[in-house]
Amino acid sequence: MKIDYAGRLRQAQARLGEMGTDLMAIPPGDNLIYLLGFTPIPDERPCYLLVTPAAAAFLVPSLNAEQAKVHTTLPLFAYADADGPQAALAQAAAHLKLRSPRRLAAGETMRADHLLLLMETWGVARPALASDLIAPMRARKDPAEIEILHRSAATADAATEAAFRACRPGATELDVADAAASAFREAGAEEVCFTLIASGPNGAFPHHHTGARRLQAGDAVGIDLGGRLGHYSSDITRMAVLDDPSPRYQKVHATVEAAVQAAMAAAKPGVPARQVDRAARKVIEEAGFGEFFVHRTGHGLGLADHEPPYITGTNPEPLEVGVVFSIEPGIYLPGEFGVRLEEIVVMTERGAERFSALPREVRVIK
Ligand code: ZN
Ligand code: ZN
Repeated sequence: MKIDYAGRLRQAQARLGEMGTDLMAIPPGDNLIYLLGFTPIPDERPCYLLVTPAAAAFLVPSLNAEQAKVHTTLPLFAYADADGPQAALAQAAAHLKLRSPRRLAAGETMRADHLLLLMETWGVARPALASDLIAPMRARKDPAEIEILHRSAATADAATEAAFRACRPGATELDVADAAASAFREAGAEEVCFTLIASGPNGAFPHHHTGARRLQAGDAVGIDLGGRLGHYSSDITRMAVLDDPSPRYQKVHATVEAAVQAAMAAAKPGVPARQVDRAARKVIEEAGFGEFFVHRTGHGLGLADHEPPYITGTNPEPLEVGVVFSIEPGIYLPGEFGVRLEEIVVMTERGAERFSALPREVRVIK
């Protein structure tokens, strides 16, 4: 299946017109991949996809010009390092028939110095964010994207299995992370984005920095892994316990499992994101662990591993068919252990369907 980049650009231009924005400027990063199918590596050199309701141009440093030509037929305006971008920017503006844009929308990851350059060039006082325009487009995945996300998720499943196999007393968290990273690559992922291995009391930190702690008998081990395949992210969390889990562990795991199931059941097409968060949170609160569920229930996922929609207690955004997001409630008990279980799901007419094929039961390692 092919992705229709030209169609995406046309759709973005139509939205620009509707929103009364004269110019959108997108820096290297996920939004550029979304609109062109590739991105130069972001660095200190200004680089923008410039889009008006009627035209588009790409301003690139010369060293990226040849690579850009492979991916896009848009008019390129290149500049040498020695010259700086001003003249190329003026040429691009002339091509776009741009005088002084009253309303500029900039991609949210643009460097401040690159934004200031645009503001000074055109005397823009108050830029807006391009995410208002692009995030809703990116949130609803098309069939080609869903197919890639499936393949990306399969690499995360393979990495999780490898992490389980590496969990044994004496192994460090980093050993387990290495096993997961190798498995990601063997399964076809181009990038390993994060390998969070949180053992024993470290599991009480939702974003623990994987370290040299050695796994011990009795430890609960949180395994949260993400990679990228064909630019699309994966993200999964599963739990292992070395030796038979304690009754307290079992109770906490069962509560988180019930929260995942409640959120999955609440996730029907068109329901507000907050309803999914509330469904998960209610289960954990009723079990008496409410204060230990210290984050939102989930986040959107696609070209970025965290992107809209965010599954929080206040987000009224409806979860439309095609939206891909995580359901990942957790309970973190300081000084003891933590349990998080994470599924990536796609909203369908029938409800939320998960990408992973792995069960959520604790993997008992003896
Ligand atoms: Zn996640
Ligand atoms: Zn995760």
